[in-house]
Amino acid sequence: MAKIMAVNAGSSSIKFQLLEMPKENVIASGVMERIGLAEGIFTLKYDGKKEETHPVLPTHAEGVDLLLKTLIEKGIVKSLSEISGVGHRVVQGGEYFKDSCLVDDTVIEKIAELADLAPLHNPAHIIGIKAFQKALPQVPQVVVFDTVFHQTMAEEVYMYATPYEWYEKYGIRKYGAHGTSHQYVSQRAAELLHKPLKDTKIIVCHLGNGASICAVEGGKCKDTSMGLTPLEGIPMGTRSGILDPTVVSYICEKEGKTATEVVNILNKKSGYLGMSGRSNDARDVTAGMEAGDHRCKLTFDVQAKRIVDYIAAYYVLMGGCDCICFTAGMGENLIHLRKNILNRLGVLGVELDEQANNVRAVEQEITTKNSKIKAFIIPTNEEVMIARDTVRVAKIR
Ligand code: ADP
Repeated sequence: MAKIMAVNAGSSSIKFQLLEMPKENVIASGVMERIGLAEGIFTLKYDGKKEETHPVLPTHAEGVDLLLKTLIEKGIVKSLSEISGVGHRVVQGGEYFKDSCLVDDTVIEKIAELADLAPLHNPAHIIGIKAFQKALPQVPQVVVFDTVFHQTMAEEVYMYATPYEWYEKYGIRKYGAHGTSHQYVSQRAAELLHKPLKDTKIIVCHLGNGASICAVEGGKCKDTSMGLTPLEGIPMGTRSGILDPTVVSYICEKEGKTATEVVNILNKKSGYLGMSGRSNDARDVTAGMEAGDHRCKLTFDVQAKRIVDYIAAYYVLMGGCDCICFTAGMGENLIHLRKNILNRLGVLGVELDEQANNVRAVEQEITTKNSKIKAFIIPTNEEVMIARDTVRVAKIR
């Protein structure tokens, strides 16, 4: 039985899950946060326990060393040789990476080169990869990209109608994100539909703080709502989603800001936060709506409307749809948002089962028997996809 570490390294954090494959059991999971600050936070879950400590973690390397030492101390692994592979989530693989792959110097160079497109993520991933390479030099390291799943989009789908040289010189095109989640959920949906994946037409709504919609036909991505960066698409926790780009130059002139500053506002101060004026957290905006706040209700209505726009477009693109799936923090938990979305789709024959929809974070069908398109809640599991790819790519048995 192989043990695989699935890692998601951020600029000041390392999230991890140790999985036993091929059973896909989670042996331990947790996160190291506040790396580089005076005091870190190390949360570890194993054996039904949750422990929190506050070590000093000057860099990711100390974090990884402490994590591995702790796994042995707690008896989670007897020796580090039990770890057969490490899979790293990488946000941006550009056009270069068409599949997950083993890490070598060229791969690291390429991920670094692509940092222009994911400045907050790719450099942090490299730090994480190097820390694990140093701590576990004999163990294969695999990178799993959020963008790879979307590399099957047709040219007419991923190209923007901007000067063609922008694409040639700078790679300006749609890349998408959340690919690992969209892939996991669509594969699971095919199982729930009792259909071979190749015969399915599925729309996945990954609705977390970051959110994207994906059209998956025959297990392959045909289109997705995020673009060159995660700013494109539907409104999110703090992101505006699509708008007329003229808004940027207009606000620059009115408020004496630079384009970078305005785009920063579109990324960090818009969406739920900007519209509701309360919070980026859906729970706070829900509380506002329930207390009668118009802007909070409007926030959800604007988002639901935009989500339905994408669903309708993807229905046409795929020539039909077997099911719509809801996943991630809001997709799994926000009963009223799922209802708001599905009730707008009556024209496509979607019929919500209110009682079935009245649940949180469980895998469940939420449409009636008569509904022409089914809808499911499917909790996402990106770590399992990372572990599966690590086993496949590193040929671990
Ligand atoms: P990300 O991974 O992009 O940070 P998540 O998938 O964790 O985002 O989703 C975060 C969102 O999910 C937040 O807006 C939060 O309010 C919402 N959420 C999480 N749990 C619940 C819940 N129990 N009820 C309602 N909303 C929830």
